[in-house]
Amino acid sequence: MIASKGYAAQGPTTNLAPWNFERREVGAHDVQIEIQFCGVCHSDLHQIKNDWFPGIFPMVPGHEIVGKIIKVGSESKKFKIGDLAGVGCLVDSCRTCENCQEGLEQYCLNHNVGTYNSKGKDGLPTYGGYSNNIVVHEDFALRISNKLSLAAVAPLLCAGITTYSPLRYWKVGKGHKLAVLGLGGLGHMAVKFGVSFGAEVTVLSTSPSKEKEAKALGAHKFVVTSDPAQIAAVKGSFDFILDTVSAEHDMNMYLSLLRTNGTHIIVGAPSDPHSISAFSLLGGRKSLAGSGIGGLPETQEMLDYCAEHNILSDIEIIDIKDIHKSYERMLKGDVRYRFVIDIATL
Ligand code: NAP
Ligand code: ZN
Ligand code: ZN
Repeated sequence: MIASKGYAAQGPTTNLAPWNFERREVGAHDVQIEIQFCGVCHSDLHQIKNDWFPGIFPMVPGHEIVGKIIKVGSESKKFKIGDLAGVGCLVDSCRTCENCQEGLEQYCLNHNVGTYNSKGKDGLPTYGGYSNNIVVHEDFALRISNKLSLAAVAPLLCAGITTYSPLRYWKVGKGHKLAVLGLGGLGHMAVKFGVSFGAEVTVLSTSPSKEKEAKALGAHKFVVTSDPAQIAAVKGSFDFILDTVSAEHDMNMYLSLLRTNGTHIIVGAPSDPHSISAFSLLGGRKSLAGSGIGGLPETQEMLDYCAEHNILSDIEIIDIKDIHKSYERMLKGDVRYRFVIDIATL
């Protein structure tokens, strides 16, 4: 086993603290990555707090992982030592179901294996990227261009693919009016992709202070959702709303902003169920949809697209000791726009 160190929560009410643990030896098809940076996703906080389901503790969060290959398995061909590599939200899946066969491992019909707060095929808990290394099957490690700032690439592994995938699936682009609801880690990537794909992008935000930055990210318009006049001005106007909000919000109000045949796509994952009136959908043949991260082929496609178009996350690099302060700021919507842990501070 490989002696490893990380930051773990021992339970849903304890703070994260240094923790030593073991990773499996590098198998024939595995690679070992020395982690350099790990993004801080709101899902980390949901999972540490048992917002979605009872978690597996001790929990080492982190699924926006980038670093350098330091060991390759005897049968592993994809990487060589020294290559950059990334790991997102998945570290395994059945590989045989129809969704896996199509490269939709995130929708594996036989349970995929999450990067943390999950159990591997060996029955052992998985541990994420708030740690100094990870051992993963080479198929679940992504290639990363060395042209880009590595720290700013890390959030692409979750915030990037989670917004890229639905925009591609629904073919959002030129001629569409896209609203991005919530300007946080996911939201700011949605703005960048939406603009890059040619859509007219409006940010719907609770934070008036983010207007200037939203425009700097490329957004064409900015609406403060607490201002009734600004909301009235965009009623019935959007083809798509990409909803990245992490907490309870008034879905019926947001659905009223869609035009006829418009689609509201949920990617944000609040703990409580939404309350939606049938009339919010049937008056205008509106669709309500959801999308979860992305599969391996599409994640690689997104990374390559970002390398080609120089799309990166806007980040604030933090010392791992400041993780709780960062969570507090994230809960207040005060993140511009992704915290990334410098793993050298571990
Ligand atoms: P984040 O950085 O905290 O951003 C969320 C943003 O939502 C905030 O910055 C804020 O933006 C807005 N917001 C927060 N509370 C709100 C409220 N009560 N009403 C309206 N807006 C509110 O979080 P994130 O990392 O982007 O993640 C967002 C959500 O997506 C989380 O629930 C996360 O678990 C989920 N997620 C889902 C997937 C998936 O596969 N579908 C993948 C990753 C993450 P403003 O200040 O602009 O209002
Ligand atoms: Zn995430
Ligand atoms: Zn499968």
